Amino acid sequence: MSTHGHILPRTTPLTEAYWDGCRRGELRLQHCLDCGHVQLPPRSHCTRCRGSRLEWRASAGRGRVASFTWIHIPLTEAWASEVPYAVALVRLDEGPLMMTNLHDCSESQLTVGLEVTVTFEARDETIHLPQFRPAREEEVTS
Ligand SMILES: [Zn+2]
Repeated sequence: MSTHGHILPRTTPLTEAYWDGCRRGELRLQHCLDCGHVQLPPRSHCTRCRGSRLEWRASAGRGRVASFTWIHIPLTEAWASEVPYAVALVRLDEGPLMMTNLHDCSESQLTVGLEVTVTFEARDETIHLPQFRPAREEEVTS
C-alpha cells in the first residue's frame, strides 16, 4: 500500500493493536506479564523470556535521540520534496529503541540526547505513522 508514492506498512493480526493505538494518538508498547520486559516492534512472544503473556499499554510517547542521520538524497521520488529530513533512533522512556522520522527540527538543533515527543501523521485511514519532534519546554523532563 502507498500514498503519494510512499510505501506504507501493512497491518497484521499481530500489529493491529499497535496501529489502532496510533489512530487514537497513542503509541502502544507490549509489556511482558512474566518478566516485565517492554518491547517494540510487536512480537508474538517476549524477546527476553519467550513468554507469551503480553499486554498492550500506552507509552508516554517521550524519549531521547540515540542516533540520527540527515537524508539529503531521496531514496525514491516520493521523498524528493522532503529532503533534507532526519531519521533517528529514539530510545523511548520505557526502554525500546525506535527508528523514526523527526519533524520540526533544524540541523543545528538535532543532537544525541535531544528530548523528543511522539506525533502522528495520518497517511491513510488505517496507517497513522508515529513520528517525533523536539519536546517543548513544558514537556522536558530533565
Ligand atoms: Zn518476558
